[in-house]
Amino acid sequence: MKIVIIGSGMGGLSAGIRLAGSGHEVTMLEKNSYPGGKLTEFSVNGYRFDAGPSLFTRPDLVEELYAISGEDASKAFPCHRLQTLCHYFYEDGKRIHAVADHSALAAELEDKLGVPASRTLKHLQRAAMMYDLTKPIFLDNSLHKWSTFTNRKALKALVGLYKIDMLRSMYRANKDRFKVPQAVQLFNRYATYNGSNPYKAPATLNLIAHLEYNLGAFLPANGMHQITSSLAGLAERQGVKIEYNCPVEKIKVINSQVEGVEAGGRFFPADLVVSNMDAYYTYLKLLDDERSARNILRQERSSSALIFYWGVRKEFRELDVHNIFFAEDYRAEFSSIFNEKKLYHDPTVYVNITSKLVKEDAPAGGENWFVMINAPARKGLYTPEAIASTRRNILTKLERLLNVQIEPLIEAETVLSPDDIDMKTGSYLGSLYGTSSNSRMAAFLRQPNFSRKIGGLYFVGGSVHPGGGIPLALLSGKIVSKLIQDKYKNR
Ligand code: FAD
Repeated sequence: MKIVIIGSGMGGLSAGIRLAGSGHEVTMLEKNSYPGGKLTEFSVNGYRFDAGPSLFTRPDLVEELYAISGEDASKAFPCHRLQTLCHYFYEDGKRIHAVADHSALAAELEDKLGVPASRTLKHLQRAAMMYDLTKPIFLDNSLHKWSTFTNRKALKALVGLYKIDMLRSMYRANKDRFKVPQAVQLFNRYATYNGSNPYKAPATLNLIAHLEYNLGAFLPANGMHQITSSLAGLAERQGVKIEYNCPVEKIKVINSQVEGVEAGGRFFPADLVVSNMDAYYTYLKLLDDERSARNILRQERSSSALIFYWGVRKEFRELDVHNIFFAEDYRAEFSSIFNEKKLYHDPTVYVNITSKLVKEDAPAGGENWFVMINAPARKGLYTPEAIASTRRNILTKLERLLNVQIEPLIEAETVLSPDDIDMKTGSYLGSLYGTSSNSRMAAFLRQPNFSRKIGGLYFVGGSVHPGGGIPLALLSGKIVSKLIQDKYKNR
């Protein structure tokens, strides 16, 4: 069949490689001049930066794309497995080195925060158990097909679903378990991995820690951008025709069936259309369907981010690849992001430094700092004054906790605001992960991977099931390709 994929983000590439590999004729239309959407790179004054994602989990999903294409991922896509997952800095001067080794992590939390080691070990075991229970239903298949619930694996998972802690918030579960506020804060942070609020999101999201601590956190040998560049190359070798600078303007539908898409004055006929564009914008702009677009907005958007990319003329021995400088009042910070929708004066600051492992990413003696705070997905907030005042707050915090004047060391700088993310990647309000998981029903209410009203229309990417983040966007491509293979196997 002729298939048009709109967008070359993680979800689009995953679907494209699989569908082309199954013999379909796949054309991918990308509005930008480069592939990858949120996952892209740029360089300033000798410093290279990954523009979007910095944490890579489940590399097996990329390796699988190589394997089904008959290629060896270990050569084409080497990765570092991180032994230190994150350095945490607290306002009272405490520092935690969160390492991948469970016993060492438990000992560190016992030593620095007084959390009995058994609690940490149990937490990580529970995270693994919840992940294994939810995976067959919530991650690997469409949540909107009966077949998902009727196979043996799913039935087994359904029986155990009462164990996934859906009824209380992540904060409540972690408070009951750890008691010590700084440990609660450390584990609450996992809600931000899909742009959610730990004070509202169900405790099921504690399973996210399993991805880092049990399955592992990775960095591709040449930086995160290698994920996109290698997958775009693989897609082309599999026969996907990628057209860049080609924004799709309309999905043509006749008698409730897709006929193709219009882009730049051209018509691309298609039996099936897969949209990797944010589901909200797909309905609003490509289908003129305001009602369905409004429906999507009934779910709270995930958080966005304000990012400063700094080329820093110094090496910091106390920093690692991933570093977090926590807000003193985490609850107030999330209330500001999700309730008041304002920038918070003492934000949690995340500093990612790929040059710790990828030496070419910064000139000798320097480091490439990706400095990010979680920020409200809201229009009209990110004025030059607001950005400048947040920059000052961030610098003050980092300078206080590292005891170094940082501003004079910055020799290259670029800023990315939620408005830029919206404009560059077509993600409504700059949300990093589509809709948030701030309610128990979030997984069920997310846009399905197929349209119930329009035949031949499918959805992939972070704004649809199973959700945002690289692994889930890759899984959405897998789910869609399976749905298509199953539905059209006789054609
Ligand atoms: P997107 O990346 O959203 O790409 C969609 C593509 O469609 C874009 O290329 C866009 O140009 C194209 N497009 C849109 N409209 C059209 C149109 N009309 N015509 C043609 N093309 C169109 N995830 C993690 O796993 N780990 C992290 O550490 C992490 N950190 C993040 C930090 C930031 C700053 C951001 C922005 C995101 C982060 N994420 C992270 C989330 C992750 O990047 C996304 O969930 C994932 O990349 C989304 O992929 P996607 O398939 O939805 O496509």
